[in-house]
Amino acid sequence: MKKLPVVVLGAGFGGLELTSILSDTMGNDLDLTLVDQNDTFFFGFSKLDVMFGHKEPGSVKIPYSSIVKTGVKFRKETIKTIDPVTRTVTTQSGAYEADVLVVALGANYDFNATHGLIEHGNEYYSFDGALKLRDVIPQFKKGHAIIGVCGAPFKCPPAPSEAALMLHDYLVKAGRRNACTISIVMPFGSPIPPSPDSSKALLQAFDERGIRFIPQHKVASLNMNKAVLDDGSEMPFDLFLGIPKHVAPDVVLQSGMAVDGWIPVDRKTLMTRFPDVYAIGDVTSVGTPKAGVFAEGAAKIAAASILARFQGRQNETGYSGAGSCYIEFGKGQVARVDVDFFSGPKPFGVHHDASEALTIDKEHFGSSRKARWFGLE
Ligand SMILES: Cc1cc2nc3c(=O)[nH]c(=O)nc-3n(C[C@H](O)[C@H](O)[C@H](O)COP(=O)(O)OP(=O)(O)OC[C@H]3O[C@@H](n4cnc5c(N)ncnc54)[C@H](O)[C@@H]3O)c2cc1C
Repeated sequence: MKKLPVVVLGAGFGGLELTSILSDTMGNDLDLTLVDQNDTFFFGFSKLDVMFGHKEPGSVKIPYSSIVKTGVKFRKETIKTIDPVTRTVTTQSGAYEADVLVVALGANYDFNATHGLIEHGNEYYSFDGALKLRDVIPQFKKGHAIIGVCGAPFKCPPAPSEAALMLHDYLVKAGRRNACTISIVMPFGSPIPPSPDSSKALLQAFDERGIRFIPQHKVASLNMNKAVLDDGSEMPFDLFLGIPKHVAPDVVLQSGMAVDGWIPVDRKTLMTRFPDVYAIGDVTSVGTPKAGVFAEGAAKIAAASILARFQGRQNETGYSGAGSCYIEFGKGQVARVDVDFFSGPKPFGVHHDASEALTIDKEHFGSSRKARWFGLE
């Protein structure tokens, strides 16, 4: 039997999950090439650990060279062009032609979209930004810290709240909390809109810790030491931790696959409007938040669709848009919200209170992916 030539672009949450499923289910019938520009993977949430000095940068990176899977080759290459009609991809090293192409290239950041962000502020959404903050945060001795969202959609909607609660803990431990104030500027009406209970728990935690929550606003620009909000109001700051505007990678925008900035997909199959070209995760406009758990959920459905096509049948399982997000509450405790975006008439979330047991649950979440994707303990 002819092997199925599959090319997966991007070895993040979505690409790794899809690759693992296809290798496990198709084995030697698979001829999959997984392409990523980096040589290591790291979980998005590890950036919070790195910026507050909880973990060493080297300890959170997992080398792609660990991937040993039947029917899978990893290539560290930068993708230069994607032709979704011919399913041809070029990189700096050559070209790939696929029967099935999967685009899992995630979201990039447009730092220049927020005037002054790089000159006067900081961001913790890139690994380099988190790394830089390891030296910046210890210098913050007094004054006002703002955690500010500069554009929506953005990855992991709980992450601004998590950064505020972790900064609070850091400052308490350093004996500086009384000299500092913390605010969060967020474009939503509540911290986690689909879960009123999670939002309530977070707002209560902010209240108890004296953290100010400013809803329904974005940071439009930074003017020296003032954050200018989208209504023109100004907030002086001494430390700015920004969530930059997100964009699809240039190679995706240039491929003609995106509509209004992101790749539209069929919710049932995760196929784009180009036959046998799938897109999963943050690069899509599927309607779930940009988070690893949703990229993973989409990967499961795309893998099932690809497998069904190979076996000459239809995949009957649609994408429910369900996933569980962990929320760092500080003080060594983690909460969880189980959200379902597509099963009901509107998205709904079930909140699980912060506890040490859920901290262990989150650790297991990371270690189980490390085992599944990389075969590492
Ligand atoms: C601070 C922070 C905390 C977070 N916490 C959580 C959390 O607790 N839970 C959760 O579920 N999610 C969390 N996230 C979000 C999560 O990291 C992302 O949503 C997730 O990684 C998206 O998966 P993806 O597969 O779509 O893209 P990614 O994981 O971003 O993978 C995309 C891959 O494509 C590669 N790539 C891009 N362009 C090219 C190119 N031209 N050539 C070659 N390779 C390319 C990249 O190198 C990357 O490896 C967090 C994010 C941040 C920033």
